Amino acid sequence: MATAQMVLDLPGFGSDVPDLASYDWIIANISGGKDSIAMLHELVQHARAAGVLDRIVCVHVDLGSAEWEGTKELAAEHAAAYGLRFEVVARKGGDLIDRIEERGMFPDADNRWCTSDFKRGPVRTLMTRLVQEARDAGNPGRVRILNVMGLRAEESPARRKLRPFAHEGAWTCPCEVCVPRRVKAEECKARNQKVPKGGGPGWGASNTLRHVDVWYPVHTWSTLDVWAAVEASGLRKHSAYLAGMPRLSCMFCVLASRSALVLSAQLNPGPAARFARIEKKIGHRFRNDLSMAEIIAEAERTPRVDAVTCWQG
Ligand code: SF4
Repeated sequence: MATAQMVLDLPGFGSDVPDLASYDWIIANISGGKDSIAMLHELVQHARAAGVLDRIVCVHVDLGSAEWEGTKELAAEHAAAYGLRFEVVARKGGDLIDRIEERGMFPDADNRWCTSDFKRGPVRTLMTRLVQEARDAGNPGRVRILNVMGLRAEESPARRKLRPFAHEGAWTCPCEVCVPRRVKAEECKARNQKVPKGGGPGWGASNTLRHVDVWYPVHTWSTLDVWAAVEASGLRKHSAYLAGMPRLSCMFCVLASRSALVLSAQLNPGPAARFARIEKKIGHRFRNDLSMAEIIAEAERTPRVDAVTCWQG
């Protein structure tokens, strides 16, 4: 996942848990999956201890018909179990599958526009709304937002490189870290020199009105740790896990393992057929190494998949 994060040595961040009370809003990104259940369970305990449970806003990014059935409702149920505010955001226009058809191409590992357009962008619109709410409530300064996600190091090499806590630096962020970085980057540009990688302020969610930091509370957790927290939370798991899926992503994630895609096609024949029709129409394969037509053919000729390989991404 592309990241705009910047590591900061801020007061309250020496330990694993940030100073939650220093934020006006705490956004919990919940997908309905196991990692987000674990993250939410962990976050709620810390927020309760800090007396800031009422600052948490859960957000679910709605990917429309690309998601497993019942995902959005399950995420709402998870938020409600803790009595938390719940918001749904989505990209304007069609859903992810409509967009694939429109663009005439599927996303892939090097070009994950599905994440940037459909996840990061819509969450930023919620941040804009929350800033306005804080202003309406009489907060005249920059609004502090902590964006909390259930990403884990084990999931991919890119996620392994993420810091559990970071500032979402940006060119328009006036903080004491971003401003000198911007000045240096502008000097490089003025000399027609390339800005060194990681040298600029970044492309994060902060701006003149909001200071945004990101926190991954379960970053170092193993899958076993996550399942233990899911059990401890008592929250309901999505039926896709019970059917054998190791991750709750899109029904047909372009990064998923072959066995996961075949099982998903066995469980979701209608959506699989829709993908195959789109593939034919746009003349672009679901993946270079694997078409949806091949996934469906394998799903139809083999017994129900009972061992699914997990995947990175
Ligand atoms: S689950 Fe896979 S296909 Fe869906 S948005 Fe994430 S990376 Fe893209």
